Amino acid sequence: MAQLPGKVALVTGAAAGIGAACAATLAREGARVLLTDLDDARGEATAARIREAGGEAAYLHQDVTQEDRWPEVVREAETRFGKLDVLVANAGIAILKPLLEMSLEEWRKQMAVNVDGVFLSVKYAIPAMKRAGGGSIILLSSVAGIRGSAGLAGYSASKGAVRLFAKSVALECAQDNIRCNSVHPGIIDTEIWDKMPLSSGGRNAPPDARAIAAASVPTGKLGTPQDIANGVLFLAADQSSYVNGSELVIDSGQTAG
Ligand code: NAD
Repeated sequence: MAQLPGKVALVTGAAAGIGAACAATLAREGARVLLTDLDDARGEATAARIREAGGEAAYLHQDVTQEDRWPEVVREAETRFGKLDVLVANAGIAILKPLLEMSLEEWRKQMAVNVDGVFLSVKYAIPAMKRAGGGSIILLSSVAGIRGSAGLAGYSASKGAVRLFAKSVALECAQDNIRCNSVHPGIIDTEIWDKMPLSSGGRNAPPDARAIAAASVPTGKLGTPQDIANGVLFLAADQSSYVNGSELVIDSGQTAG
């Protein structure tokens, strides 16, 4: 039996990677899904694939850091699909660089997408969820939001902020029947690893950031976007109705020790 019949979900950064897997999984379980991203060609293609598989999905261009775009995105979910029940704030970037080589501009860019973008997602989703009678907010943090990460100090700081923001939202919205939880992926095999700008001039740049990171996982395995989507589905569905303000770590034991 489908786990999300009648639900409407918004997934940011849904063109690729974890976001695309989340959108497809929620749609497979009966949700109508609005996908947003910067990458229109891939976003449209991902939404089309979901529709071909029998799901209901639409794509909209969005930069999550642009506040003036948010009212339109939420309005689109409500006018096209009738309401908004589930938010997956997934859009994120990572800049892999030694601290002393990171510019203030790079620091701020990472904070803008990973923290400001999440704040805006939540701020604009909540009124729509109140109109719907409640909802589930799922924020993509990271294992780097639980413990420090050399070379990823700015990313770690941004994901730590998301972790405590999720708990604060959970407290502030509990009376409105809106839950908020964070998800903490470990090393997941997506293009985020290819996009990380390495240290200047190639000095100290790991030849394969994925393989180095995977060595820190007890099983030695990379996770898949579907591994994360499975956890997101649990938090989106009513079966997790008593789960609020919690953090779901999906890392094959990487942070267990
Ligand atoms: P990805 O790079 O494969 O996909 C991210 C998507 O977000 C892309 O489609 C990109 O276009 C989009 N995006 C980037 N900036 C945006 C913006 N300003 N507005 C809208 N969309 C934007 O990354 P991923 O690995 O799928 O990561 C998804 C989330 O999971 C991120 O928040 C990331 O920090 C988190 N995460 C990933 C890993 C991992 O190992 N892959 C681990 C922990 C946490």
